[in-house]
Amino acid sequence: MKLIYELSSKGRGGVRIPEDKISPEEMVPTELLRAEPPELPEVSESEVVRHYTKLSRLNYSVDTHFYPLGSCTMKYNPRACEAAASMPELCEVHPLWPQLRHGGLLTQGSLQILYNTERLLSEITGLAEFTLQPMAGSHGELTAVMMMAAYHRDRGNKKTHIIIPDSAHGTNPASAALGGYDVVTIPSDASGDMDIDLFKEALNEETAGVMLTLPSTLGVFNPRVKEIIDAVHAVDGLMYYDGANFNAIMGRIKPGNLGFDICHLNLHKSFSTPHGGGGPGSGPVGVCEKLQPYLPISRIAKTKDGVYTLDYDHPKSIGYVAPFYGNFSILVRAYAYLLMLGREGLRGTSDRAVLNANYLLEKLRGAYPAVSEGRCMHECVFSGKSLGEGIHTLDLAKALLDRGVHAPTVYFPLNVPEAIMIEPTETETKETLDEFVAMMEEIAELSQTDPDSLKAAPITTSVGRLDEVAAAKNMDLVYVQPAAAE
Ligand SMILES: *Cc1c(COP(=O)(O)O)cnc(C)c1O
Repeated sequence: MKLIYELSSKGRGGVRIPEDKISPEEMVPTELLRAEPPELPEVSESEVVRHYTKLSRLNYSVDTHFYPLGSCTMKYNPRACEAAASMPELCEVHPLWPQLRHGGLLTQGSLQILYNTERLLSEITGLAEFTLQPMAGSHGELTAVMMMAAYHRDRGNKKTHIIIPDSAHGTNPASAALGGYDVVTIPSDASGDMDIDLFKEALNEETAGVMLTLPSTLGVFNPRVKEIIDAVHAVDGLMYYDGANFNAIMGRIKPGNLGFDICHLNLHKSFSTPHGGGGPGSGPVGVCEKLQPYLPISRIAKTKDGVYTLDYDHPKSIGYVAPFYGNFSILVRAYAYLLMLGREGLRGTSDRAVLNANYLLEKLRGAYPAVSEGRCMHECVFSGKSLGEGIHTLDLAKALLDRGVHAPTVYFPLNVPEAIMIEPTETETKETLDEFVAMMEEIAELSQTDPDSLKAAPITTSVGRLDEVAAAKNMDLVYVQPAAAE
């Protein structure tokens, strides 16, 4: 595809600026005026439209392709939630507006949405109270570790480390370390759960807490979670629920009821916000009663007369973790999603996500070794070790791109060699899943009969196989006009 500069033709344009009405000298101080006009592409309107439409089609997205990227929950997000977030009444509010202005309507309305969203998240997680400020799951984790530290400081506890299983997302140890704790990593046992004996050896009076993803990144629900939680509470440690996989258990299990003290949810994974490309996100954090005093300020409160206010009077709060109230429009999407689905709808969503993952697990078992023996939750993990000589999971991922499917997550979790982690999500049809299975089987077959065809993939994408290390280390982000032909 051509670059927009390469389409440029001197004197062509798509807009006309009425020159007599604009005097650059009046608008810009003379010393700041350009001496030379900038080198902008000169193109017609239709060229611009076609150019950017073509560019947008080079992307893989849930709107265009099956996107089974495990751990990320790349699910379809209903348009109704987009419509809610686009309402002018919600787009145009500004957090610096004094409360109660404009008859109190607009800001009262937005505060009410935030207040109700907090209540709904509390209801579905079984935790006492939520903060909506954190801007990502990882940010929620850090917020949570800061609250854990504040709790232990307050109690005079001497705590030095946080325990994390080796299947955890990399953000867990990073957050624990940023929060001032050493990280103790526990290997997984044969079934993919945190090794319970090694865990008990590591647990002691200095354990600040345990960060657990449930179901784990292997898509397995740890059957001994109650035992882990009781052991941690016995040393006044705190149980942290990494809610990135909440899509598997919505409406079925509440982390708070299991005994978790604190959790984050990724609204951009389970609750209707398109994500990818690094943002924007939202990672609200919920806490049990004993951690309430440490929540970030400001808190959204409701008076007896039904007026929503901002409450700053929390002397033990860890303070602000983000400006204002978090990513407001993402919270609106989540609120709309929760109201739209309701209790039954949420449960049905998780049920179908789990059903779809188990369907793939059983269908693909023949072609690829599965990591878990029994059933999985919302995602399933295989190994690419069985692919033909010299063919790796990376080759499989590239070959899928040629077949019009976004690659699953590969080489994660780290404790599975040649990992292939597939999360189909709830909205995919049986037909789509069957097509995917056929592709996966075809690729397994080709890895034996025609491995070179896989090594060459992808051949249908705009950019072929890259040297990924070189691409990351020697980034080339600047367009340089090719030298004129001699
Ligand atoms: C995505 C994810 C995170 C981090 O969330 P971000 O919103 O990407 O910062 C943490 N834990 C798990 C298991 C995840 O999948």
